Amino acid sequence: METRRDFLRTAVVAAATATLGEVALGAASKIPSPDRRGILCDLTACIGCRSCEAACRKEHGLSSVSSLSELGRSNVPERRRPSPDALTVVNEYKHPNGAGSPTFVKVQCMHCDYPACESACIVGAISKKESGPVLWDTDKCIGCRYCMVACPFQIPSFQYDTALKPDIVKCDFCVHRTEKGGVPACVEICPVEALTYGRRSALIEIARKRIENYPDRYRDHVYGEFEAGGTSYLYLAKTDFKELEFPSLKREPMPGTSESIQHGIFAYFVPPISLYSLLGGLMWINKNRQKAEEETTE
Ligand code: SF4
Ligand code: SF4
Ligand code: SF4
Repeated sequence: METRRDFLRTAVVAAATATLGEVALGAASKIPSPDRRGILCDLTACIGCRSCEAACRKEHGLSSVSSLSELGRSNVPERRRPSPDALTVVNEYKHPNGAGSPTFVKVQCMHCDYPACESACIVGAISKKESGPVLWDTDKCIGCRYCMVACPFQIPSFQYDTALKPDIVKCDFCVHRTEKGGVPACVEICPVEALTYGRRSALIEIARKRIENYPDRYRDHVYGEFEAGGTSYLYLAKTDFKELEFPSLKREPMPGTSESIQHGIFAYFVPPISLYSLLGGLMWINKNRQKAEEETTE
């Protein structure tokens, strides 16, 4: 029986062979628009109700969970990541000494300003839009999963409803709403306004003001303002972001690594059979880079 790994290997080789002639390299050097939008997540306000999870699933017609009561405000037994059934998930982090309140962390695509996924994509299926979202073109995607390996936040997942055409699944910033002047479903549903949608530059001002006005409530750190060149999702918290399992990233955009490997493939015309092993190489580089960065920030 063909395993998923066998399928992936076959897909990478076949797709790379078919598309080498019409490759469009990612455009990671674009300067993001000063008007781009973002979402500020204030983790000190989040009560872990998971309404955002339910609203997101409903908005995108995902999974059998149809109501908030089915999700409930429960302790989540394991650290979840977004999946084909859930574009966003909320994880609970107990207070370090067990005495204080837990912190709830909403996780989804960060909509990076310089997306490593865009840069790694060998067919140009992923792009950062001027208004902020990082979106993908299902028709261009060949299912190679370079984006999955390159993402420093472990976000893209794939659904295999159609075996020959696996599709990227991740938060789409609810563009179908925002393009019409609306707000994302998760932001609209949040009962405590832990989520704020708006111009990214204005959100940073709001975040800085909150830190200034309530220094006991917030760490002096807006996560996403600078990490990996900046992201459209921004976070405020009282707890150290490392304890909440946010990756420690430098200010430089991440695409450099994936781009240089990708350019090498085409500059030296590496035979398609080598592409699969390069996926492993990219994963190794990404992992070690993060480890090195964590060590330098300690
Ligand atoms: S978080 Fe990952 S998937 Fe989302 S834009 Fe950044 S690199 Fe791409
Ligand atoms: S912005 Fe839209 S797609 Fe993204 S997590 Fe919120 S509801 Fe889901
Ligand atoms: S809806 Fe708001 S308060 Fe509830 S889990 Fe999501 S972000 Fe937190």
